Amino acid sequence: MDATPYILSIDHLLSEEERLTWTAARDFCERRVAPVIERHYEAATFPRELIPEFAEMGFLGAPLVGYGCAGMGPVAYGLTMIELERQDSGIRSFCSVQSALAMWPIYAYGDEAQKERWLPGMAAGETIGCFGLTEPNSGSDPGSMRTHAVQDGPGGDYILNGQKFWITNSPIADVAVVWAKTIDHGSDAPVIRGFLIERGMPGFSTPETKGKLSLRASITGEIVLSDVRVPKANLLPGVRGLKGPLGCLTQARYGIGWGAIGAAMGVYERARTYTLDRVQFGQPIAGFQLTQQKLVELHNEIGKGLLLAYHFGRLKESGKLTPVQVSYLKRDNVRMALEAARTARSMLGGNGIMGEFHIMRHVCNLETVFTYEGTHEIHTLAIGRALTGIAAFK
Ligand SMILES: Cc1cc2nc3c(=O)[nH]c(=O)nc-3n(C[C@H](O)[C@H](O)[C@H](O)COP(=O)(O)OP(=O)(O)OC[C@H]3O[C@@H](n4cnc5c(N)ncnc54)[C@H](O)[C@@H]3O)c2cc1C
Repeated sequence: MDATPYILSIDHLLSEEERLTWTAARDFCERRVAPVIERHYEAATFPRELIPEFAEMGFLGAPLVGYGCAGMGPVAYGLTMIELERQDSGIRSFCSVQSALAMWPIYAYGDEAQKERWLPGMAAGETIGCFGLTEPNSGSDPGSMRTHAVQDGPGGDYILNGQKFWITNSPIADVAVVWAKTIDHGSDAPVIRGFLIERGMPGFSTPETKGKLSLRASITGEIVLSDVRVPKANLLPGVRGLKGPLGCLTQARYGIGWGAIGAAMGVYERARTYTLDRVQFGQPIAGFQLTQQKLVELHNEIGKGLLLAYHFGRLKESGKLTPVQVSYLKRDNVRMALEAARTARSMLGGNGIMGEFHIMRHVCNLETVFTYEGTHEIHTLAIGRALTGIAAFK
């Protein structure tokens, strides 16, 4: 009997365009990302030279329509996330942050002048964006942020002060979408608003965070705001309150829910190949029942994750996907991928810890993916609240 890496196929559920997008993304990532990723991971550098090629592939702002963006449907977008993360979660993170956390808020909450000013350059990869929500003392509870903006002068400029922490791409960003508390004219209660902070504005700096043992091929840094004067024209007019940043995170988490499947596929395929080749006790280790059980678990969990993503992708297409469904997708597929990576690592024995076998890197990366964009626990509580009607965050 012929062996096959996958029994489940979703090809027949995809449109011709989605199939072509998937194949093109896989070819590109195998050709351009795979050969360089381990070197960048070890050096803790991001392959900046690939940014124009990401743009050419339509990966930057992929789901947005107009402004030079590809206008991909949710399923096609998800399939590209699979291929990016099959190589490395840090590479997928770069594209996710640019698309969902930096471009999307400008697209969804910005005025026409802001969209025309920023989006075409961001889609072309000439302008890099980042998203500043998390602070040293404000992670899972972003409503506790301290960064604040005070209006000053006749032009209505804002003066921003504060610090953002764990910000993907901040050291290389030309524009930062920063969330800060301010008091709107005529009100006395602070409200969270989004600001576009430009590189070069006095008082704005982005020191790099060194020493990460996870997501090493992604650049992470701080955003330090020290009396940064920001014109009123840089305020995102279309949203007020926590729903602003949470709306962006829903977009990004949707992509992560797909991307994590790619990481799981990558480690499963490597474990399968390795165990078919590796001989112990006179036979390939894939011939042992315990090894087959692991392979079957990995394979079947990937299939379920893919169906979940596909189902939610079609819901998103019809405009019906809810934030709690996105929590379900992000939570379960990332947990699945992390468990898959740990299992696959064990199946390679000692070789599993070596960079050249490309599994340990996924294990380390997925520890971050489990935590960022809403930790596993916070998504559990979001789903628990939906099931019971009781919020258990406090
Ligand atoms: C590499 C990397 C890149 C990142 N990129 C960005 C970015 O681009 N922009 C950005 O704004 N942020 C970014 N983040 C931040 C990320 O979103 C936060 O790390 C995450 O939200 C968790 O916040 P925290 O680290 O402060 O952990 P904490 O909130 O302190 O949580 C610590 C632990 O306590 C648990 N916990 C907290 N509250 C509860 C509760 N109510 N019930 C049960 N358990 C709870 C958490 O689940 C977690 O296990 C990034 C993080 C990393 C590591």
